[in-house]
Amino acid sequence: MLCQHCGLEFEPEYRYDLIILYMMGNFSPPFPDIYCETELFNHNEIEANWQKILRQKEILDNALKSGIIPEPYKNCYEWECKRCRYSLVCQSLARTMTEEQVEEDKKLWD
Ligand code: SF4
Repeated sequence: MLCQHCGLEFEPEYRYDLIILYMMGNFSPPFPDIYCETELFNHNEIEANWQKILRQKEILDNALKSGIIPEPYKNCYEWECKRCRYSLVCQSLARTMTEEQVEEDKKLWD
């Protein structure tokens, strides 16, 4: 089987059928709307994804333990920020987030 993204041949080990029924479509007729696709994975892709999830968990655990938020834009994909509701907060933090500032903020909250 050929990969739709990279064009390389591979043997899929796992198959996932995704079907979404949008009851209100795009909030204008025609609705309901339906979206379907089949995802094919091999073991390495699932393992890589799981490792990424574990890294993200570690970042969250560290942030909760230390009380210091993760550095903006460092632990996510670029596309995640495009429609993120916290984008303005991250833009502000990215401008001011220095080691000294973090230490100063810690003193204020202790
Ligand atoms: S804008 Fe949103 S997705 Fe991007 S770093 Fe900030 S919180 Fe994360």
